[in-house]
Amino acid sequence: MASIKRILVAGGAGFLGSHLCERLVDQGHDVICLDNFFTSQKTNVTHLLNLPNFELIRHDVVAPVLLEVDEVYNLACPAAPGHYQYNPIKTMKTSIQGSINLLGMAKRCNAKIFQASTSEVYGDPEVHPQPESYRGSVNPIGIRACYDEGKRAAETLFFDYHRMHKTNIRIGRIFNTYGPRMHPFDGRVVSNFIVQALSGEDITIFGDGSQTRSFCYRDDLVEAFIRMMDAPDDVTGPINMGNQGEYTIKELAELTLEIVGSKSKLVYKPLPPDDPTRRQPDITLAKKHLGWEPKVPLREGLTKTIEWFREINLDSYRPPTPNH
Ligand code: NAD
Ligand code: UDP
Repeated sequence: MASIKRILVAGGAGFLGSHLCERLVDQGHDVICLDNFFTSQKTNVTHLLNLPNFELIRHDVVAPVLLEVDEVYNLACPAAPGHYQYNPIKTMKTSIQGSINLLGMAKRCNAKIFQASTSEVYGDPEVHPQPESYRGSVNPIGIRACYDEGKRAAETLFFDYHRMHKTNIRIGRIFNTYGPRMHPFDGRVVSNFIVQALSGEDITIFGDGSQTRSFCYRDDLVEAFIRMMDAPDDVTGPINMGNQGEYTIKELAELTLEIVGSKSKLVYKPLPPDDPTRRQPDITLAKKHLGWEPKVPLREGLTKTIEWFREINLDSYRPPTPNH
């Protein structure tokens, strides 16, 4: 290994953050996981707590924190619609004030900083698939805006710190990602369908199920994070990170039922406002700059995820909000 770095993972106890912490700890780095546990719980990282190169801090990124680090990954933000809409004002503060605090730290420490941005910056896109050059179609006053506009403002802050202070930034725009350690009550489509299929409950399709998403397996995505942090300094992004396999929500429901071997019925519920109609990443830039593309097809990733869901005890998970 080249050198041991001190790495802060904000939002490190979450679904993606806990896996990123594992990867970085395995590489021998000195990892600080910072989280307020809004949408996660300590059990996601308890297996790391006794390791000498792992440290856990309960802290909210909206408040400043003083640490000395070489790299920062900013994943701190609720990601599931039911979670980020629970307290939309706090969601916006987390994206904006949280980014300001972490960018300030990166500036002071001369550290590299990665922002976990999102395909939601494209809103309900009129361009398909979405390249990074597409500026998006976001409703600034809708119920998703606290997340979409918060993440867009965070990207603006990252680029302004870069232009004003030469801060070493990297922005990854993440498309729907799934895998083991998703919160079983986060209300996202993959976790909802698996929990419903395993328990024999009805599968809730919002709208007619013709809307599409492109689903990336967790391990593929976290590989892209690390490659981007290790890329040359001019690779600021934004770079799309996601799997190009595009599926309708109805196809996802049918595949989940087939893999689980479940007899749950499909039921149709109203489509939430501003729900994007189509979503698929153009990953030309990720291939070119990171030499990265996803390896795990949906059927394989979904099978592993379902295995994990079969083994967990749902009673040991606290629903983060009543919106699940
Ligand atoms: P997650 O909810 O499991 O993880 C987010 C983590 O941030 C949680 O541990 C939560 O407790 C923590 N957090 C939230 N607010 C905080 C605050 N104010 N201070 C400190 N910690 C806070 O979700 P995830 O899927 O692991 O998402 C991680 C990041 O990736 C998020 O920033 C999300 O916006 C982004 N992202 C994820 C996806 C996806 O499909 N999983 C897609 C696009 C973007
Ligand atoms: N969805 C659904 N049933 C559910 C949960 C979600 O049909 O139980 C739909 C949702 O309306 C959206 C898609 O699945 O069209 C993906 O939803 P998710 O909340 O996972 O993520 P999004 O990409 O919308 O942020």
